[in-house]
Amino acid sequence: MNRNVITFSKNIFLPLTTVCRNRCEYCCFRTPVTEHCIMQPDDAERTLSRGAEKGCTEALFTFGERPEEEPGFKALINGTGYNSILQYCYALCKKSIKTDILPHTNAGILTAEELEYLKPVNASMGLMLETTAEIPAHRNSPGKIPEIRIEMIENAGILQIPFTTGLLLGIGETMQDREESLMVIRDLHKRYGHIQEVIIQNFCPKPGTPMCIRQEIGFDEMCVAIRIARDLLPDDVAIQVAPNLADAASLIPCGVNDLGGISPLTIDYVNPEHPWPGEDELRLSAGNYHLQERLCIYPRFIEKGWYSDELEPLIKRLVQQLSDRRHRHETT
Ligand code: SF4
Repeated sequence: MNRNVITFSKNIFLPLTTVCRNRCEYCCFRTPVTEHCIMQPDDAERTLSRGAEKGCTEALFTFGERPEEEPGFKALINGTGYNSILQYCYALCKKSIKTDILPHTNAGILTAEELEYLKPVNASMGLMLETTAEIPAHRNSPGKIPEIRIEMIENAGILQIPFTTGLLLGIGETMQDREESLMVIRDLHKRYGHIQEVIIQNFCPKPGTPMCIRQEIGFDEMCVAIRIARDLLPDDVAIQVAPNLADAASLIPCGVNDLGGISPLTIDYVNPEHPWPGEDELRLSAGNYHLQERLCIYPRFIEKGWYSDELEPLIKRLVQQLSDRRHRHETT
C-alpha cells in the first residue's frame, strides 16, 4: 500500500428499507413499518441512473437487518413484487451492474448461504464489527451479539468476499475493547486475507434517541484508536475515517489512508445531519498526500480474481476509466 496516497470512492447510498429487527440505542435510521419504509423500485432505478451520470462507481445498498421479522413488513415487500428484501436487493444489484455501477451490500447479519447468494452480484460487501464488547446500547439488538458478527465476517472470508468492517467508537466500549476488536479483525484477516478496509467511525449522538446526550469521543481518543489500528492491522488493510463525521485532515497523520465513500447525489442516511464533503474538500483534507479515487473492490482483489463472471466486464471497464481519469488529472 502506497503510504503517500489517500483513497476514496464515489458512491450512491440506497437505503432499501429503514425497518430493522434490532433496537440499537444510538440509531436514528430505523423506523417502524409504514407505507414509506421501502425504497420503491422506480426510485432506486432513478437513483442508479443519476448516479451513473454523475460518475459514481459504487452503489451502497445499506438497510435494516432482517426486516421480515417485523410484523407487516412481509406484505409490503411482497407488494414490490419480491419475496424478501434480499431478493429485492439481488435484483437491484443486477440493475446496478447494468447501469455501470458496482454494488456493495451491507444488510446486517447474513447467513453463509445468503452471502453466497449475493456474492456474484456484489464487488464487495460489509458489516461493521462495531465492538466485541457486550454493551447496554445493544441490549435489544440480537444482531449485535459479537459472536454472530464475527461468524459472519469469517464466513465472508471463507467465501472470498472482499470485505469492509470497522469499529464504532463511543458507544460504551473501552479502549481495551477497541484493541480486542481490532485483534479479532486482524486474526480473521490473517486466516482469510479478505479485509480491504477497517473503518474507525466516531458515534454521533442523535436527537430523540436514548443516547442523545452521550458525549462524543474527542480527537485524541480517535487518534489513539487509529494508531492502535495501524499498529495491529497488516499493511494491506486500509484504515478509513468518514470525512463527513470526523476531521479527516487532522486524523490522516494518525494513520488514516482512506476516506471512504462520498456522494455527489445522495445523503448519508445513517448520519443525515452530516453532509458529504465534495471532492475538492477531500483534496484539501489530504494536504500533501495524493488523493486517488478507487473502486469498492480494492486492486489486489481484482488481481486475485475475487469477483464473478457477471462483474468482470464492468470491473475491467471501470479500472480503465479511473486510470484514464487519473492520467487526465495528472496531465492538466
Ligand atoms: S442494526 Fe443498524 S439500522 Fe438496525 S437498529 Fe441498529 S443501527 Fe439501526
